[in-house]
Amino acid sequence: MSASSRFRMFIDNEFVESASGEWFTTDNPFTGRPFAEVASANEEDVDRAVRSAHRAFNAPEWKGLTASQRGELLLRLADLIAAHVEELAVAEVRDNGKLISEMRAQIAYMPQWYRYYGGLANKVEGAHLPSDKKNTINFTRYEPLGVVAAIVPWNSPLLLLAWKLAPALAAGNTVVVKPSEFTSTSITPFMELVKDAGFPAGVVNVVTGTGPTVGAELVRHPLVRKVAFTGGETAGVAIAEAAGRRLIPATLELGGKSANVVFADANLDNAAKGVIGGIFAATGQTCVAGSRLLVQREIADEFIERLLAIARTARMGDPLSTDTQVGPVTTPVQLGKILRHIEDAKAEGARCVLGGGRAERPECGTGWFVEPTIFTDVTPQMRLAREEVFGPVLAIMPFDTDEEAVSLANSTDYGLAAGVWTSDLKRAHRMAEQLQAGSVWINTYRTSAPMSPFGGYKRSGLGREGGADAIKQYLQVKSVWIDLNDEYPSPFVMRL
Ligand code: NAD
Repeated sequence: MSASSRFRMFIDNEFVESASGEWFTTDNPFTGRPFAEVASANEEDVDRAVRSAHRAFNAPEWKGLTASQRGELLLRLADLIAAHVEELAVAEVRDNGKLISEMRAQIAYMPQWYRYYGGLANKVEGAHLPSDKKNTINFTRYEPLGVVAAIVPWNSPLLLLAWKLAPALAAGNTVVVKPSEFTSTSITPFMELVKDAGFPAGVVNVVTGTGPTVGAELVRHPLVRKVAFTGGETAGVAIAEAAGRRLIPATLELGGKSANVVFADANLDNAAKGVIGGIFAATGQTCVAGSRLLVQREIADEFIERLLAIARTARMGDPLSTDTQVGPVTTPVQLGKILRHIEDAKAEGARCVLGGGRAERPECGTGWFVEPTIFTDVTPQMRLAREEVFGPVLAIMPFDTDEEAVSLANSTDYGLAAGVWTSDLKRAHRMAEQLQAGSVWINTYRTSAPMSPFGGYKRSGLGREGGADAIKQYLQVKSVWIDLNDEYPSPFVMRL
C-alpha cells in the first residue's frame, strides 16, 4: 500500500500516525478489496487526543471566543463543505459503498446542520428567575460540558457526525471523534476543512480503530464529559453502562424496525415509491429503514404487485455510477448477517417473493451485494418482524383495522420511525398520536432537517439530535444567586 493510501488520525491540528506505528486495512465494498490503510490507535493515542481536547477546552483561543465567534467558525465550515461536496461524496462512497447520487445529495445538504447550529450558538439564553427571596437575584447560565466523545457508525459517517459536532461546538465543547473502523477515510478530507475553517488546535480531534478497543477507551477516559453515539444496540448498551459508571451523560441513537403502514385510501403510486425507497435506498442500511410493511388486507395483493414491479427493475452495480439504484452492503460481516436473516425467515415459514440471496449479477463483480428481497406471510413472532436486519429485506404483514395496524406497528422493542400512507386527515392525526416512534412520516418517508428533532422511543435510543433543544444536550445549567442585603442573617437558621 503506498504512503498516499494511508490515512492518519487528527490530533492538535496535525495529521499524525498512531503511537504504535500500526495500521489496519480498509475495504471498498464494491470491489470487496482493501484500498487503504488507517492508523490503528491504542490507549496512548486516545489519551493524547482527549488531553488535546481538554487543553483546547480551557484555552483562551476557544474558551475566550464569544458565542457569535463560535457560530462564525461553524458557518465558515459550512461554506467549505459546500465547496467540496464532490470530494467528500466520493470519499464516502469508496468507504461505505452507498450510491454517489445519495451521497452527493446528503453532503450537499450537510452544511445546513452547521449553519443551523452556527446561527443558534448566540441564541442560547439563561433566565432571570422571579426569586421569592427579598433583595436576591437568581439567574441561570448555560455552560458547555467539556470534552465530548462523538462515536459514529459506517452508514452515513459525515452526516451523523454533523448531527453531533455542530451542536457540541456551537455550545462551546471540544470533541474527539471516533469513526467506524469500516469507514475511517472520509474523515480525512473533512478534517482538512475543519482546519481551514480556523478552529483552534485541539477543538476537534480524530482517533481511528475498533469500537471495543478505541471506542471503549474513549468512553472510559476520565476527561471525557459526554458521549454522543450512533450505532447498534449492543454497543449502545455497553456505552450506556460505561457512561453510567462514570456518571456522564450519553446520547444514544440506535437501531429500528420501522413500519410503513399503507391504508386502502392512500395514493398507492406514492405509497409504493415511499415503501421501496424506505427499504431499498442505501441498500436498507439506514437506521430508519422501513423494514416492515403493514398493508390493509383489501389492497394487499394489488399493492405487493406494484412493489414487485418497481423492485424487479432496480439496477444494481457500481455505486459511483449515477445509473445504479441499489449498491453493495458495506461490510462482509453485514453481508453474512443479512444472508442469515434471509435463511432464518425462510426456515420460519415466511414466503420469499423477490430476491432471497446474494446477488451474483455480472454488474456486481466481486462486491458484497444482496438481491432486493421481499417476504410475505410474515408473522409478528418471526425474527424478521422483530429484529433489525440493516439490509434490503422487506417483511410484509396484512392488517384489517386501524387498531390492528397500530398494535402491529408498536409490537417491536424499537421505536425509531414509522410511515403512514392515507388520504384521511383524521386517520393521519390519530396514527401520529398512537404510533410509538420518534419520527412519524405521513405520506412521506426518510425526511429530516436540522430544525427537526430526531431520535428513538423504546430501545431505539436516548435523547434527540436536531432541533433547537438538542444544543441543551451539550450544555449544563448553572443557577446563580446574588444576595443584595447589607446584613447576613443568623448562620443557624436556614433561609427559606
Ligand atoms: P456499531 O454499534 O457496531 O458501531 C458504531 C460505532 O460504535 C463504531 O464507530 C464502532 O467502532 C463503535 N463501537 C462499537 N462497540 C463499541 C464499544 N463497546 N464502545 C465504544 N464504541 C463502540 O454500529 P454499526 O454497525 O457501525 O452501525 C449500524 C447500526 O447503527 C445499526 O444498528 C443502525 O440502526 C444504527 N444507526 C442508528 C442511527 C440513528 O440515528 N438512530 C443512524 C444510523 C445507524
